[in-house]
Amino acid sequence: MECREAQRCAQAFLKDELDRRTAENFVEHVQACDECMEELTIEYLLLEGISRLENADDIDLNSELDERLDRVRRRKKRYSQLKAGLFLLVCVILCIYLL
Ligand SMILES: [Zn+2]
Repeated sequence: MECREAQRCAQAFLKDELDRRTAENFVEHVQACDECMEELTIEYLLLEGISRLENADDIDLNSELDERLDRVRRRKKRYSQLKAGLFLLVCVILCIYLL
């Protein structure tokens, strides 16, 4: 699978809309390709993460900038955690498909 195709498949993969063969090719590709794994992580964030991150934050007008910086830092931290978690998830999914 080419990078362009993999990135086109990312959303469908997260929504579980890929057929088995395409999903296999997709997972195989993102495991070997950092760029597409990053794309997948971003797609995942867009689908699942953003609203939860927004809702979790208390907006304080007196420290709007601090809040904004904090949010970016927390988001960055969660992004790394999410990336690790997603990689594990993809491994598990791959194992299930292989069995
Ligand atoms: Zn790729």
